Amino acid sequence: MPALKSTPAAKSAAKSDAATAAAPAAVKAKGKAKAAAKTAARPNKVADKLARLGLKTPADLALHLPMRYEDETQVVPIAEAGFMGGSVAQVEGVVTSCDVQFRPRRQLVVTIADDSGPLVMRFLNFYGSQTKQLAEGTRIRARGEVRHGFFGVEMVHPAYKVINEGAPLPTALTPVYPAGEGLSQTILRKAVNDALFQLDWHDTLPESLRASLGLMPFEQAVRLLHNPPADVDERALEERSHPAWIRMKFDELLAQQLSLKRAQLARRNKGAPPLTVNGDLSSRLLQALPFQLTPAQRRVLDEIRADLRQPYPMQRLLQGDVGSGKTVVAALAAAQAIDSGYQAVLMAPTEILAEQHFHKIAAWLEPLGVPVAWLTGSLKKKEKLEALADIASGHARLVIGTHALIQEGVEFEALGLVVVDEQHRFGVGQRLALRNKGLTDVPAGDGTNAENGQGNVADTATVPHQLMMSATPIPRTLAMTYYADLEVSVIDQLPPGRTPIVTRVVDQNRREEVITRVHAAALEGRQAYWVCPLIEESEALQLQTATDTHAALQAALPDLRVGLVHGRLKPAEKQAVMDAFIRGEMHVLVATTVIEVGVDVPNASLMVIEHAERFGLSQLHQLRGRVGRGAAASVCLLLYQAPLGHVAKQRLMTMRETTDGFEIARRDLEIRGPGEFLGARQSGQALLRFADLETDQWLVEKARDTAAMLLQNDPPTVTRHLARWLGDKEEFLKV
Ligand code: ADP
Ligand code: MG
Repeated sequence: MPALKSTPAAKSAAKSDAATAAAPAAVKAKGKAKAAAKTAARPNKVADKLARLGLKTPADLALHLPMRYEDETQVVPIAEAGFMGGSVAQVEGVVTSCDVQFRPRRQLVVTIADDSGPLVMRFLNFYGSQTKQLAEGTRIRARGEVRHGFFGVEMVHPAYKVINEGAPLPTALTPVYPAGEGLSQTILRKAVNDALFQLDWHDTLPESLRASLGLMPFEQAVRLLHNPPADVDERALEERSHPAWIRMKFDELLAQQLSLKRAQLARRNKGAPPLTVNGDLSSRLLQALPFQLTPAQRRVLDEIRADLRQPYPMQRLLQGDVGSGKTVVAALAAAQAIDSGYQAVLMAPTEILAEQHFHKIAAWLEPLGVPVAWLTGSLKKKEKLEALADIASGHARLVIGTHALIQEGVEFEALGLVVVDEQHRFGVGQRLALRNKGLTDVPAGDGTNAENGQGNVADTATVPHQLMMSATPIPRTLAMTYYADLEVSVIDQLPPGRTPIVTRVVDQNRREEVITRVHAAALEGRQAYWVCPLIEESEALQLQTATDTHAALQAALPDLRVGLVHGRLKPAEKQAVMDAFIRGEMHVLVATTVIEVGVDVPNASLMVIEHAERFGLSQLHQLRGRVGRGAAASVCLLLYQAPLGHVAKQRLMTMRETTDGFEIARRDLEIRGPGEFLGARQSGQALLRFADLETDQWLVEKARDTAAMLLQNDPPTVTRHLARWLGDKEEFLKV
């Protein structure tokens, strides 16, 4: 090994390198107490930051797997790197010059050289201390994208390290971890490495099971992923098809399946009031409806009715495309609860939608002698107190409202059924809170809940039945994983007499033609929605745009009545506008996305959406679903501002090609991936980190079968596996 060159710069560089590596030793010299306080404070701060990423235990850290790797195992001569323009290379050399230059802008320019030639490194952002660290004579290793600049071979903002001559190269690929604020790769690597020393390495799978599934041993897989040997199949690592990845994905999916299955068993062990009567009210409601149920509605109603009769809680998701007629099914389920002597509650995500449900359902039920209560945040105090009293006394048999229903002070006399409309708009916690309104403690035994590894919860409480409704269909792969605990009913048929919606994608600069079209439609007695551009960054701006659009349309269509509805209107004002539109007193309704969900005005048959490229697919589908509800042929015009990005183009094409909500959801999943599709709110902390539901479907099935087998035969393995993979995150799956 060549001797260390002893220029002053090299010394100071070597020292600074050593100082960072051996910080505790360096501070020891200055007052021990102070040093102890410092080292104690530092790791805690790191621990806090790690905790924010959910990394608390050695197992958490060991399972914090790299997103990708960097190959620092090779150094190439600078001249050779010169031929690798555009790709990433690592070089080693000694600094020959280091200057701050001011043209074309302030930057640090450092030249290094090895035996084969020079290389220029440019730093546009730099610290003053870097000029010292990179003083002439310093030896460094730099890694970055090679390009040919005016002065020869160049790297802009390379990653670099000050080293001593002959410093050994890493023998494994360098992992790059998902990081959080204030956590450098160096800190993460160290934390993970420490964790690997502390981890209890037992394989959670019994050896015979592991072998029969053809999986790599746990320890081997984890160690390989954190420190892949230089000769590893990099492609397989990258694509996550390497056996080490397969083991991790399988373990993750198995934990998820076990947890879902356990939640399901736990639910079966809870009590619920059996709603056994389909009596007078149900049959009179059916007769009073102005239409016949479709066969699909009948089928799902039968499924729901059968569930409601059980002495354990129903947890059913009712899916049906927009306009398929879910509301009436919910009303009939409520009738069963009421017939059986219980109350029912229906929660909707917006005030407009809740109010619409209230009007519609009250119009069905009140003539049959059923008192329906209404509860939202905007009620006057006196009205609110009255409603609360009616709910608590049991006078109100059905209660309809918004989030206000889950607030404190709302108490039911005997809640038997909870219906959540547009359930994807609510968080897990909100749905749980509403369900808990119906929680009753039946005094029995010592009143504690005992749980064993098989998920047999001896529960003394009863909870109401739950019906969740959504027009956002969940693709099969997702249903199998995230919703394994739900029964699913699907209304796969629209009520008769609907004509399909024709969708056109129109350049924004043809706005005039669109306005003419709206005018013509209005003269034929049809009504139109005009949806304003979404401005996510600013509610104020969004409001401004809505007001401007309204003014512009009213000016362009002086002979028509143009209304405006947006989120800032008081609920009563909002309702007045909607009522006028429903009564046909208004030709055009300019609206923000407040009309996105559920709003039902059958005579509206033209939908214009401005800046459609800013909306997500499911939002566009929901908005479009506001038309096509009557017999008239409906049209949806998606105005866009060119040029369109790739994703926006895909979305608009999808909208033009299909009105099938399931197909749209499938493509949405493709475009966005499951994480975003569900949103963290939906899935709690349980999002899969490693497995990919599209490509790893075969593993999902394996994991599901294994989960069923283990729950049946091997509870200790279940407990061990869940402890490692879910830790304290399991609660989220139980809702
Ligand atoms: P969604 O499933 O989107 O919530 P709604 O429940 O709002 O749909 O129903 C859409 C419209 O269809 C409503 O006006 C509703 O009264 C009507 N409707 C529901 N079922 C039928 C049916 N079987 N025949 C005719 N119209 C129906
Ligand atoms: Mg609806």
